[in-house]
Amino acid sequence: MSEKHVIYDDMSHKSTIRLENVSVTFEKYTVLHKLNLLLDERLIAVIGANGSGKSTFVRLLNGLVLPTEGNVTINGFDTRREGKAVRRIVGFVFQNPDNQIIMPTVEEDITFGIKKLKKEEIERRIEETLQRYGLLSLRKKRVHLLSGGQKQLLAICGVLVMEPHTIILDEPTTQLDLYNRKRIAEIIDNLEQRIIMTSHDLLLLKKFERILVLHEGHLIYDASPSDAIPFYERLMA
Ligand code: ADP
Repeated sequence: MSEKHVIYDDMSHKSTIRLENVSVTFEKYTVLHKLNLLLDERLIAVIGANGSGKSTFVRLLNGLVLPTEGNVTINGFDTRREGKAVRRIVGFVFQNPDNQIIMPTVEEDITFGIKKLKKEEIERRIEETLQRYGLLSLRKKRVHLLSGGQKQLLAICGVLVMEPHTIILDEPTTQLDLYNRKRIAEIIDNLEQRIIMTSHDLLLLKKFERILVLHEGHLIYDASPSDAIPFYERLMA
């Protein structure tokens, strides 16, 4: 069977992300160098100093950034040529929810990515998602009245409602207080989907299966948290 398969099947199905000889160059500056990776664990984190290329790396995985050289494929779909299919498999939660939330009310915002579905299906997904994340009572609320934590949750719900297999979170806890960081950690624990996350919050990464350490655009370490976190701490010392 080819790697390419139907997009919507069992949520727990592993989607395979492949990077072949991938480099990214902005103007003359190479931000990521010759990456070759096969990603199929459920919980993958990307760590590194500011400017090491983490954000560019995760943006490659749903076609927000295209490789200058090489190919990125998700279940065989090429991000360069099949971006639409890729984005149905891989959802992306931005670091700042204000970049993600575009509609005036919670309900309108969460409907935005699924508005082409049937009415009953839209209703089912909205209710289920808002209920699960404790936002149902805020359904009619204007988004500018939400707290920072509620906005981050809404941004995550806006991606979950599209039922992707893989969710990318780019530093999801950076702007949150301790209470909301714990909530995000709980959400990550309870999701069925694959998570690929960048973070400086090393405590959040203990349960992850695989950690990629980027340094100046190179992948310099790729291991479990028990090896990768001490390595990274030594690198940053
Ligand atoms: P990190 O997420 O680890 O902080 P980034 O991927 O955001 O790193 O950035 C890596 C490097 O690429 C930085 O030096 C940044 O200035 C540069 N960079 C990122 N995006 C662009 C862009 N669109 N154009 C030019 N340079 C960029």
